Amino acid sequence: MSNPLLETAERPPFSRIRPEHAVPAIEQILAEARERIAALRELQGSPDWDTLIEPLEQIHDRIGRAWAPVSHLNAVCNTPAWREAYNRCLDLLTAFQTETGQDEKLCRAHRRLREGPGWDALEPARQQLIEHALREFRLSGVALSGQKKQRFREIAAELARASARFEEHVLDATDAWQKPIEDARALRGLPESAMALLAQAARREGREGYLATLEFPAYLAVMTHAEDPALRREVYEASGTRASDQGPHAGRWDNGPVMEEILRLRHESARLLGYENYAELSLVPKMAPDVATVMRFLEDLAARARPPAGRELAELGEYARERHGCERLEPWDIAFYSERLRRERFRVSQEELRPYFPVDRVLGGMFEVVRRLYGLEVRRVDGVVDTWHEDVQYFEIREPDGGLRGAFYTDLYARPHKRGGAWMGDCVGRRRTAGGVQTPVAFLTCNFTPPVGDGPALLTHEEVITLFHEFGHSLHHLLTRMDYLGVSGLNGVPWDAVELPSQFMENFCWEREALDLISGHVETGEPLPQELFERLHAARNFQAGMHMCRQLEFSLFDMRLHRDYDPERGGRVRETLDAVREQVAVVIPPSWHRFPNSFDHIFAGAYPAGYYSYKWAEVLSADAYSAFEEAGVFDRATGLRFLHEILEPGGSRDAGELFRAFRGRDPRIEPLLRHNGIAA
Ligand code: ZN
Repeated sequence: MSNPLLETAERPPFSRIRPEHAVPAIEQILAEARERIAALRELQGSPDWDTLIEPLEQIHDRIGRAWAPVSHLNAVCNTPAWREAYNRCLDLLTAFQTETGQDEKLCRAHRRLREGPGWDALEPARQQLIEHALREFRLSGVALSGQKKQRFREIAAELARASARFEEHVLDATDAWQKPIEDARALRGLPESAMALLAQAARREGREGYLATLEFPAYLAVMTHAEDPALRREVYEASGTRASDQGPHAGRWDNGPVMEEILRLRHESARLLGYENYAELSLVPKMAPDVATVMRFLEDLAARARPPAGRELAELGEYARERHGCERLEPWDIAFYSERLRRERFRVSQEELRPYFPVDRVLGGMFEVVRRLYGLEVRRVDGVVDTWHEDVQYFEIREPDGGLRGAFYTDLYARPHKRGGAWMGDCVGRRRTAGGVQTPVAFLTCNFTPPVGDGPALLTHEEVITLFHEFGHSLHHLLTRMDYLGVSGLNGVPWDAVELPSQFMENFCWEREALDLISGHVETGEPLPQELFERLHAARNFQAGMHMCRQLEFSLFDMRLHRDYDPERGGRVRETLDAVREQVAVVIPPSWHRFPNSFDHIFAGAYPAGYYSYKWAEVLSADAYSAFEEAGVFDRATGLRFLHEILEPGGSRDAGELFRAFRGRDPRIEPLLRHNGIAA
């Protein structure tokens, strides 16, 4: 019987991939990999690129190409069978990774290459890849002695499992809560599109009337528009207590103990490697030099953002009291009254913008932005590509001469059993092989409001920004020119610089010239009218201080949690969060609220002691974008410089060096402050 995960087609044959294929495929690939590595370990003398690194590149590529569809399907079409297959593969892969990472002979072969006669003649991208590999050996505990080495391996396995469990709990808790609503009056305040969304959710479950769920578009609609404070509170509580000891499913999927376990294991692994705490360890491969620098950076921003945030909240409270008789502003009132105040002051709402952003128009306009900046063509390819869901579309990016540069799948709408949020995933990485260049392929996944009825999906401006953000990551992955997997695309890019290309792209969503391309009224095709554009712009920094404080709260909480872990006293998750809020938050949620329990960025994602990356990279992205503000937003020369100096080199050079090559100087914080309406 053939296993579709073992095929080496250009793209995974999704419709034929079943959960039962996953474990046998990974087992076979890892067995072959172990056999090849056994030979590499015995290399004598000073190995070179072709004898040592190229075979390892092939091994990583083979594993990555089988694992990518497995982890992707587990995230977007989650079933008990996929979950089990994913977890078993995860165990196998984690064991393989730590085993190779701790392989002394393999590490010594790398060191001999590093110290050998051919080193100086190696091209810098190859040198960078090998330096990163040596760092990876060290961070996998290659230098540890017997017992400690064994313990490090156990920790890696336990950590991988705990993170997967964390994510499962969040998904189950999100899917489990729903509230049938028969009487439309209970939903007064909701715009037509949101009513239709909730009605569609009810039909999906074979019900009459409406269904409130915790899928993000439905959650947001209720929090922003529902006039009934009791309903808002109920939804706020259900969402804010997911996977915890509180709320409607208290104790059912409680991530409290999982967080404790994760923090304890991370701390232990950092100590084994000789670091004070996990925050220190996390920064080793990053751009930021040390924990103190990150803390100073965040605290400086907090000091700037908190005064305006405090004023914004006071103003909101006053507005709610005077205009709506709301004496006490509760956390579940914030979004609701903010929306009203925004509408009154700027006469603009996300709902009003929706008809101007039909999804195909937005995609077409976004691709036109890329054509103007980089001279590349993006086209949808219909009918020939195998996918995993009817919502999925497939696109190709081509050179002016027709050469294929990269390709990506989009899966844009929220649905049950799909992980929340938006992200870019690596499907195939670029590398040069004997047969030519392997075209990179990406997954672009979002959770937007699905099309309701027969019409196209209509996006809010916020959703458009999210789409641009993820497309920015995709371009980083797809437009790379690097020929080695270890440094192509996002590979090897320090995590606190990864949000540069993504946040950079968001800026275009605020430009008149770009909005002319991405907006077109669903009925008339008319682009966003000038006066609506001006109102949108005027509202850009509405509550920017509050927004900034919220981001800083997440970042500081994450950093302190990992810096201050104390084995005697445990994770002290709530204590830490309270202390951070004391320092930076203006809105304090109720004591039963359990935000950390669904904070998957740091407990299940790639951002532990790294959430600060968003703000850190925003310094870079805002400053990079200011070069376009100076030269013209579609200035081709600036666009090509960004392409050549930031996107194409991927992880082949240090992030600071790439930024300087593009901007001609070190990054400055002023553009970030200016974009956020905060005085320098
Ligand atoms: Zn991002």
